[in-house]
Amino acid sequence: MILDGKKVRDELLAEMKQKIASNNLKIKLAIILVGDDEASKIYIRNKERACEFVGITVQKHLLDSNTTENELITLINKLNADDSITGIILQSPVPNSIDFDKCSGLIKSSKDVDGFTASNIYNLYLGKDTILPCTVKGIIKLLEYYNIPIAGANTVIVGRGNIVGKPLSLALLSKNATVTVAHSKTKDLASITKNADILIAATGVPHLIKKDMVKKNAVVIDVGVSRIDGHIVGDVDYDSVFKVASAITPNPGGVGPMTVAMIIDNLIMMKGRENNG
Ligand code: NAP
Repeated sequence: MILDGKKVRDELLAEMKQKIASNNLKIKLAIILVGDDEASKIYIRNKERACEFVGITVQKHLLDSNTTENELITLINKLNADDSITGIILQSPVPNSIDFDKCSGLIKSSKDVDGFTASNIYNLYLGKDTILPCTVKGIIKLLEYYNIPIAGANTVIVGRGNIVGKPLSLALLSKNATVTVAHSKTKDLASITKNADILIAATGVPHLIKKDMVKKNAVVIDVGVSRIDGHIVGDVDYDSVFKVASAITPNPGGVGPMTVAMIIDNLIMMKGRENNG
């Protein structure tokens, strides 16, 4: 089975559009980009398209790569204080002169679409209802959409990055998965990945996961995005792994579209919280 992120995204966005219209929700997303990273521009365009489709206003702040950290902080503070702004995204990466973690951490937690601020991560740690990082939420939604059982599943996450691997491990633990996290220092990676009922690769190493590393009938989720000769390449050697997996995400077309849909999902949730005081 192919876990078709585009199809699920389209269904979810259609439902969300309906919800926004029928409840007359006025949602505005501020996106900040510092510098001119080409991949970031594509990601922002995808976010804008989804927002336009569902009826969310996007306010873009495209800052010069010479922007200082203080100037960025001033903008974040201004957007935090602006009641017309529902959510804020600081697009990663930022130039080296700016501390991304520090600046994204200054976004007001109630406007933190990406779920990266300390209080949202702390709530995730506590297993409480929180604004989940969009990729993490997208992976879980995709598994749930295809009725793949998470509770009790031996789940191996390859990658312990702050954006995907680490928060995903907490979110899956909250869903009662048995979670193993592997990384670049893991010994004999294949012996670990072979145990996975659900194998999630989030490393950015092209085609790291080969057929002989995957248990027969495992569910395989490919999060990684690398660009080789202008083409997107995932962490999973799709053609060979497809033959042993019971379900697999294409890449592109799997996790990426779900991530974008979850930005909208988070914004609707945030608007609901705002409206309920
Ligand atoms: P990151 O912070 O750079 O983390 C990468 C992780 O991969 C690290 O934990 C690293 O281990 C591990 N790793 C690297 N080489 C490895 C190897 N040979 N074997 C096992 N583990 C290895 O990256 P990230 O921000 O979490 O993102 C991960 C990937 O997902 C990237 O390709 C990114 O572009 C992609 N991504 C996709 C989406 C989407 O919507 N599709 C969203 C977000 C991110 P160490 O910790 O030991 O260094």
